[in-house]
Amino acid sequence: MVPAALLVARGYLEQDKPKLAKKALRAAWLLGPHPELAAGFAAIVPDESASDRLKRFTVLTNSAPAHPETKMLLAELNIGAGNYQAARLALGDLATSDPTMRSLTILAAIERGDWADDQSVRQLLTQAISAQRDPQWICDNCGDVHQDWEPMCLSCEAIDSIDWKRPPRSEAVSSQMLPLIVGNMSPAASDATIVVPAAEVEVLDVIDGIDAEQEPKG
Ligand SMILES: [Zn+2]
Repeated sequence: MVPAALLVARGYLEQDKPKLAKKALRAAWLLGPHPELAAGFAAIVPDESASDRLKRFTVLTNSAPAHPETKMLLAELNIGAGNYQAARLALGDLATSDPTMRSLTILAAIERGDWADDQSVRQLLTQAISAQRDPQWICDNCGDVHQDWEPMCLSCEAIDSIDWKRPPRSEAVSSQMLPLIVGNMSPAASDATIVVPAAEVEVLDVIDGIDAEQEPKG
């Protein structure tokens, strides 16, 4: 459903019919909110300001508002626009009722934007790093993760085997690594070479991105 809706929306955009693209994505969102639908919706107006985007996205965020994906999207849009209280309201208790890497990272970003207590931000990021990973395109047959949905798994050649689902819980990152990943590095450990897994880099990217967004544009 998601790949089909994206394909349809992209087609409408190419024909310069953004209203129809919007309709197609909203219809798909109502059936099942998904981050790629949100990305497709963002692509309709790529260069808008964070507050314009927040406003335009109400078409999606008012649809299926109780869905966790909608809550996280609305929280992220509000973070982008600097509305941390609204972001907190949108996220609700998701970071405690369903603590995934993404919900915890969003809460960390809210905390950081809201009252800049480094310790609580670090604690949340530490929790995020070893939390349940969010859904990805995963092959039911061989378990490989794919960047995009494909009709056939390129790893094992199974047909129609790629589903959007949560990966199995990986082993928690060792507690020794955590200070290195989330900062607070001790001088003794500073020359240790650590390869940070991609998922952990993502967390840091989110925070970096938020910092960048907070800087005045000009
Ligand atoms: Zn496979």
